[in-house]
Amino acid sequence: MLIVSIVVTSSIFVYFNNNREVEELSYTLFLKHLKSGIVKDVYLTDSPKLKVVLENGNEFFTDNPRAQGFKEELLLYNVNVIERSQTVDDVVMPVIIFASLIFMLVYFRKNMFKQAEKEMANMSNIENSNLEIKIGFNDVAGNDEAKESLKELVEFIRNPDIFKKFGARLPRGVLLYGPPGTGKTLLAKAVAGEADVPFFAVNGSDFVQVYAGLGASRIRDLFKKAKEAEKSVIFIDEIDSIGKKRKGGNIVGSEEGDRTLNALLAEMSGFKENEGIIVVAATNRIDVLDEALLRPGRFDRQIEVELPDVNARHKILNLHARNKPISNDVDLRKVAEETVYFSGAKLENLMNEAAMYAIKSNAQEITKEHIDKAYYKVLVGDEKQDRSYINKKDKEITAYHEAGHALVAKLVDSTNRVTKVSIIPSTKGVGGFSLNIPTDKIYKTKRDLYDNIMIALGGRAAEELVFGKENITSGASSDLEKATEIALSLIGSLGMDETFGLLNINVLMSRDIKDDNNLIERTKEILDELYKETIELLKTSRDKLEKISQELLIKETIDENDINRIIDFS
Ligand code: ADP
Ligand code: ZN
Repeated sequence: MLIVSIVVTSSIFVYFNNNREVEELSYTLFLKHLKSGIVKDVYLTDSPKLKVVLENGNEFFTDNPRAQGFKEELLLYNVNVIERSQTVDDVVMPVIIFASLIFMLVYFRKNMFKQAEKEMANMSNIENSNLEIKIGFNDVAGNDEAKESLKELVEFIRNPDIFKKFGARLPRGVLLYGPPGTGKTLLAKAVAGEADVPFFAVNGSDFVQVYAGLGASRIRDLFKKAKEAEKSVIFIDEIDSIGKKRKGGNIVGSEEGDRTLNALLAEMSGFKENEGIIVVAATNRIDVLDEALLRPGRFDRQIEVELPDVNARHKILNLHARNKPISNDVDLRKVAEETVYFSGAKLENLMNEAAMYAIKSNAQEITKEHIDKAYYKVLVGDEKQDRSYINKKDKEITAYHEAGHALVAKLVDSTNRVTKVSIIPSTKGVGGFSLNIPTDKIYKTKRDLYDNIMIALGGRAAEELVFGKENITSGASSDLEKATEIALSLIGSLGMDETFGLLNINVLMSRDIKDDNNLIERTKEILDELYKETIELLKTSRDKLEKISQELLIKETIDENDINRIIDFS
């Protein structure tokens, strides 16, 4: 391009220079030049002036004699007679220059468009990581439940025919949800890696704020590419940016977003059954997603990807230490213990920063000191409300609170199952959670409902018992909501309370017959009574409460076996 423009500009320069130098000579002087044999060309036309070129290259105009035999005379003097006007050149030259300029402009612009298109494509960034080193489940530490669930999909992609033969329908879409940096992208890549198929990745946020229709066409483009590859994994990160709950009425113009979402839904229902294409989407917030996305045939398998507990953190640290020289003074188990609420990404970052410090200080290995330094660097980079700052006391309170729920669940009815207790926050609970599975039965007895209230109150009861009446916390708010709900329905709609008898409060209310005070009074009585009962229950099993809490503080997450072991053998 540079050469072309230099040539063009210099020829423009030469052309105009030449024209400027053309002077007019008298006819007699011209005849003199002619006779002395220095005239090279004459442009012979009907115009009043003739253009003459001398042997030395000089050009000039002279009067056209328009005489008979003029041409012959010129020829006799060995002059090259050109019977067309130089003005043709005068016209042609600028036309050529002009045309080439136009051409260049068009060319540049086209390239600019191409560049823009390229950028757009980059923006939508359909990343095909075929060329990357294959990632497998071994590259993901922890997240065992998620991995287990995804392994089935790998089987499906590898061997869709088997599933077809048995008439089994597998999900087309899998939604991975959980806090940022917990390995959702990594898991999706691992599915593609394990199944040995191409991986197409896009980010949902690239689809917003694009020109009308472009988001939808990008979606179609993405699926087209995936289908061309036959079997593949499509990964849509931050799906919430295209799949947010649609506001009814659709007045506020996110129509473009809707169009994109509709295109996605259409593409997903458009695959042939058992084609071997799996769409994996990720979000930090499942609660904001449009329900349409979660329906059967869409993202109907939802897998929670949690923050790692201490064991998982240890595994993740080990994984990222694999390719690094680590000094003997480093105890990764200890590092795992000190990194509560760290995500996998943060742990990876920690190890990487530690390596950087080691390199900077010309050390042979990564030492404890480097890790400590890195730890503070990783923490400082955090937002203020980062949970990493949570103090030990909070952790302790959470442990007793969750242990309370779990223990009460087992004590009120030994057939109740407690499958998992954790003090790591997740969508199941802001502080931690205790997963209780009550025995499966169609009807609930009055006693069952009482038990459920006691399980709900178990958290608060444990707090009071251990830390004193003054130190109870706000952590029980949703528990109290649940307990009140059960107590109210027990009195008001299930006819299980002696005082209220068989009345249905809703019917009374609908007739405007109100008796709120008594109802509140009675609900409170029941809750108070059951709360006392719960405290007593925990008091008699205080040692078990202690053991569960301590184990929670060490392991952060304990499972059914741990719970049963503690309860049976202490
Ligand atoms: P997400 O998609 O959930 O935001 P990523 O998968 O992008 O998280 O994780 C970012 C990086 O953090 C990964 O590339 C990996 O290095 C590290 N990481 C996160 N979770 C894990 C894990 N469970 N095991 C190993 N590395 C992890
Ligand atoms: Zn609770």
